[in-house]
Amino acid sequence: MTLQLFNTLSTQVEALTPADGKAVTLYACGPTVYDYGHIGNFRTFVHVDLLRRFLEQQGVPVKHVMNITDVDDKIIRNAAAQGVSIADYTPRYEKAFLDDLRALGCLSPVIMPHATENIPEMVALIQKLEQRGLAYRTEDGSWYFRINGDPEYGKLSKKDLSGNTAGARVDVDEYEKDSASDFAMWKAAKPGEHAWDTALGHGRPGWHIECSAMAMKFLGETLDLHAGGEDLMFPHHENEIAQSESATGKPFARHWMHVRFLLVEGRKMSKSDGNFFTLRDLLLRGYKASAIRFLLLSVPYRHQLNFTFDGLAESHSAVDRLRTFRQRIEHGPWPAGENAELAAQSREAANAFTAALANDLNTAEARAAIFDLVRHANTAADHGKLQQANVQPILHALTLFDQVFNVIEDHDTEIAREALAWAEHEGKLTKESANLQASLELSDADIDKLIAERTQAKKSRNFARADAIRNDLAAKGILLEDSKDGVRWKRK
Ligand SMILES: [Zn+2]
Repeated sequence: MTLQLFNTLSTQVEALTPADGKAVTLYACGPTVYDYGHIGNFRTFVHVDLLRRFLEQQGVPVKHVMNITDVDDKIIRNAAAQGVSIADYTPRYEKAFLDDLRALGCLSPVIMPHATENIPEMVALIQKLEQRGLAYRTEDGSWYFRINGDPEYGKLSKKDLSGNTAGARVDVDEYEKDSASDFAMWKAAKPGEHAWDTALGHGRPGWHIECSAMAMKFLGETLDLHAGGEDLMFPHHENEIAQSESATGKPFARHWMHVRFLLVEGRKMSKSDGNFFTLRDLLLRGYKASAIRFLLLSVPYRHQLNFTFDGLAESHSAVDRLRTFRQRIEHGPWPAGENAELAAQSREAANAFTAALANDLNTAEARAAIFDLVRHANTAADHGKLQQANVQPILHALTLFDQVFNVIEDHDTEIAREALAWAEHEGKLTKESANLQASLELSDADIDKLIAERTQAKKSRNFARADAIRNDLAAKGILLEDSKDGVRWKRK
């Protein structure tokens, strides 16, 4: 099924197809590695991941490029404050970001270029713009893009730039002005700053030119899709378009996707309001990355999500319901034959799931289709009406779901350990993180061993030992559930 996706540039929902008929070329703005990523950032990354997984499920390969911005104003400032070079400052945050992405179940981008490794391409692009009269050098040796030279400037964000003052300049990477200004593509080095010696002079690239140069280097002059958070639409993406199209005379990206930011407990996330959370903050409170991913995905990307702790608890139990359901269906035993009504409901769920995602990635409807099936199948099973031939179509629908949502397994153990080590080091361990720590001390194999010992203890009527094992596991957040097919367990 062809994905119909809203295009910010045309303001229409349009089919997203690869121009070459083979693979969709996707450039998604990556992190600036100066700090830990917060859940607002990750909302964008998990929706881009969902888009990619859905396209691949529909048989469309995706050439996914995500840049790592490892030089910018904030990195230079923070590294200087710590008295280290930017090359010593950024790797830690880059690793943390990639670990977080993995914990959140995101596929790794196919190519992850670093800004500092692609300086010659940025210089060449600025030189090309200079030849076309769109780049100029100022007294101090910085280079700016002349926005009045680009009649289409503002077409993505639909900003009215009529009151614009010709030649007004802004030298920071991020700005919120409605009346945009000429922006820096190359910044002359200030004393002591990290810089490169190039044909443009001694300096470093601005943020916007990094993305233009790397996107075109790895994906060609016209991309199928460019994605990012809504906060990047202006000025960042607007400037990327201006630079790229002015240099090539071709459309830079055929399709633009912007993911809306989220509110936390009804308010804009901010450090001073105490509602600012990194992924690690939430793991330390004992929440699972799968529940966080599911919550971030449950509201379609163009709608604002209000991220609440009630919502997170609901998301946790929803994931749990899916896990328990899958185990139940897989284990059976089920009577021979087929319940035709349930078979039809399974097919409908699979179709509705795919149709919802194909309709501008409507994750809320896609999720609802699967939970409808869970309800129907559980009811049938409770009444002895789920039969052997129903198992495969139900599992098929669940597989379709999890290939895209990817929440039924957790991937966060390793990063939870790291977060704990960090919290311990900083003296920030809480009661919840102590429980998490106890739970992580036991590997899955350790737990299986203890459960086998408990089963043995029960058989030899050593109930005191059996209860002690159960209680000990419960204290570490491992819950056991005795069923007629044996013992199931889960981490709380
Ligand atoms: Zn970018």
